[in-house]
Amino acid sequence: MTGEGHGMAVVGAGLVGSLTALLLANRGHHVDVYERRKDPRKVGDAAGRSINLALSERGWRALEKAGALEAVREIAMPVKARCMHGLDSGLTYQPYGLPGKGRFGHDECIYSVARGPLNRILLQAAEATGQVDVHFEHRLEDFSVSQDAVSLAFDGRSPLRHDRLFGTDGAFSAVRQRMMKGDRFDFSQSYLAHGYKEIAMPPGEDGGFAIDPEALHIWPRGHFMLMALPNPDRTFTCTLFAPFEGPEGFSGIPDVASARAYFEAHFPDVLDLVPDFDRDWKSNPTSSLITTRCNPWHSGDRVLLMGDAAHAIVPFYGQGMNSGFEDARVLADLLDDQAGHPSDEAWTRLMSDFTRLRKANGDAIGDLALRNFIEMRDRTGDPRFLLRKRIERRLTDRHPDRWVPLYSMVTFTHLPYAEALELGRIQDGIMDEVMARPDIDTVWDGNEVERHALELAAERLPRTDTA
Ligand SMILES: Cc1cc2nc3c(=O)[nH]c(=O)nc-3n(C[C@H](O)[C@H](O)[C@H](O)COP(=O)(O)OP(=O)(O)OC[C@H]3O[C@@H](n4cnc5c(N)ncnc54)[C@H](O)[C@@H]3O)c2cc1C
Repeated sequence: MTGEGHGMAVVGAGLVGSLTALLLANRGHHVDVYERRKDPRKVGDAAGRSINLALSERGWRALEKAGALEAVREIAMPVKARCMHGLDSGLTYQPYGLPGKGRFGHDECIYSVARGPLNRILLQAAEATGQVDVHFEHRLEDFSVSQDAVSLAFDGRSPLRHDRLFGTDGAFSAVRQRMMKGDRFDFSQSYLAHGYKEIAMPPGEDGGFAIDPEALHIWPRGHFMLMALPNPDRTFTCTLFAPFEGPEGFSGIPDVASARAYFEAHFPDVLDLVPDFDRDWKSNPTSSLITTRCNPWHSGDRVLLMGDAAHAIVPFYGQGMNSGFEDARVLADLLDDQAGHPSDEAWTRLMSDFTRLRKANGDAIGDLALRNFIEMRDRTGDPRFLLRKRIERRLTDRHPDRWVPLYSMVTFTHLPYAEALELGRIQDGIMDEVMARPDIDTVWDGNEVERHALELAAERLPRTDTA
């Protein structure tokens, strides 16, 4: 039974849509969720999407607000460090954060969660409120807004009327496409020249993880790289990021034999650990990566874009889902600022406040993600870059209140992304000066370097509230 003529419509029952429905329902709204796919609880998860994701502080806070933190915690695996694999199979570890400062009494770390189970937990929690009806196999084709309602058209069915529409239908959002037909709506998209393909690494012969499960593994090789993130079933999901064209690109790997040769040349320690390499290489798609930006994220008092529908970003900061969850949390905060259910007038204000609060941050995390791509791909194997990171790490270990690295601001705090990006720019300037010392290789861990960096930080970095 659909909520014809009243209540909220959420289009897209992915991660952000499910969480948004739960947060709206927790605030007493009736929600109809429309999803073009079949119910994943009946047919299994859709193939071709990233299988696991890194969940970090912004995501946890939103889950906590929705009352879903404990259920998600049960399926989340702490990942404490990056582990870089050299061509000679040598390993370099970089811890993600500070000891004992993270959630659940852990060191600051990220958490690997599987997309399917996470989506199911959120959908189930939303339905369990008794306020949410999920309608699978409903593909939104169009909508129109009148004075008192928004009418949604699905697959040739008669239009369904709702009070508000939340577009959480992903990077190629039909809601956004409809908004683009209106006046003064900006939109841009750009594809990365790189794509990705996933390959499963099963447990080792002893039934345990084949490689260290407390690390996110990276094989940085200049303009391409392999990554691996653990799953609770003791497998790893490995993802090859490579250009579509050119040397070492997907176009140069036309079949399984050449893919094997490619892995032997560039990731020699991996092939023996993936016995189903041939099957995975053939059957898993090579997918593209897109950044989108749009403005505004709302239309009047009736329609709001959130998650990838508002800001699709490349996955290299592990923040796509986290930023979408933060969108949902900010929406809930704005609703909590209202006394009772907002009037149409209050919704107009609330939706434009949402665009104002979130748009610049969506753009910033898009920029940061593109920047991290270069860093992970090209620089994590560069000795000067590793030295720079060691100096920053030393500053943070010894003066955690005076030097918070950009990665930590993004991953372990709630500082708006746009502010983190700006602070990161200032820190880059400071570190450029520190690294310019001719004797930096030998004196990097001395008091002189520390004092110099902290003096520059005191001069240039504003005091910020990261809570
Ligand atoms: C390789 C890769 C790795 C990633 N790793 C991370 C990570 O480590 N950490 C992180 O935070 N993020 C990561 N992300 C990003 C993350 O996957 C997305 O940001 C997140 O899935 C966005 O959620 P969403 O609900 O906004 O959109 P989606 O997950 O895309 O969900 C949209 C939903 O809408 C439905 N839909 C689409 N069109 C319609 C329609 N017309 N009508 C009805 N329903 C419709 C779709 O079927 C889908 O269920 C990664 C992404 C990729 C590609």
